[in-house]
Amino acid sequence: MTAIGTLRNTSKDTLRDVLTRLQTEGAALGHFNVSDHVLLKAVVAAAAETRLPVLIGASEGEREFFGARQLAALVKSEREESDLPIFLNADHTHSLAKALEAAKAGFDAVTIDFSALPFEENVARTKEAAQAIKAVNPAILAEGEIGDIGTGSEIKDTAQGGKLSTPEEARQFVEATGIDNLAPAVGNMHGMLKSMVQGKAKKHLDLERIAQIKQAAGVFLTLHGGSGTDDEHFRKAIAAGINIIHINTELRVAWRESLDKSLARDPNEVVPYKILRPVVDSVRQVVSSRLRLFHGQSVSADTVGSVA
Ligand SMILES: [Zn+2]
Repeated sequence: MTAIGTLRNTSKDTLRDVLTRLQTEGAALGHFNVSDHVLLKAVVAAAAETRLPVLIGASEGEREFFGARQLAALVKSEREESDLPIFLNADHTHSLAKALEAAKAGFDAVTIDFSALPFEENVARTKEAAQAIKAVNPAILAEGEIGDIGTGSEIKDTAQGGKLSTPEEARQFVEATGIDNLAPAVGNMHGMLKSMVQGKAKKHLDLERIAQIKQAAGVFLTLHGGSGTDDEHFRKAIAAGINIIHINTELRVAWRESLDKSLARDPNEVVPYKILRPVVDSVRQVVSSRLRLFHGQSVSADTVGSVA
């Protein structure tokens, strides 16, 4: 079994190679979730436009809708055809069976999420799943999660989460589980508040805590729930040790708003690719803008503000 990012007959870097290189460059890998082929096309188009690596993510719900093996086959095909460093992560995986399913389908990484369980149980089940996916393919990166940042990449009325991770539990968790990436709670949150969608409010991160956790954990750090975060906080979080940044809700908002607009433009239009082309384009702009920011390139307009 060969993971998508480690095709034997190419000279391409593995996901670990890319993360290591980006870390030395002071950049982070953008992780963008997809539920359908429109979103997938948009992320691939952004990777092609910016010539930057991307990590495509699909949670259990997104995988169920798309098909885990079908998504893996599409990403593999895009990667082979475009020669772009496109990787695939099984986001928020809550069981050993689903982690194994993704590993066998050829995913490059699995986010093992037992963070809702008590710490000791989270350790035990994360360790078990990490070992199981590496038995399928040792090149697959295992990510574990600690703390609470809420659930669901949706528009919310009130903030969720709040239990921030400590450097000590980060160190213990990484040591006990053998994971490659750690996803801590550092002021980030899944989903966006309405005020964030409107561009009136931003998420702020605990930058000092990120630096302390990086020091204690000594592994790649992933920031979940990045949508709606202040641009300057993203830059500083990367400098403090964040390696992967998840953006989902911003893409969903762009998808929904541009789809509404496209449908309203001509009530008699029934050709799907004519209706959906502007949707791909809108989501691509959000992804490209975030990618440029994560790689220290200047971003002209605020991403969220430009969505509406
Ligand atoms: Zn997440």
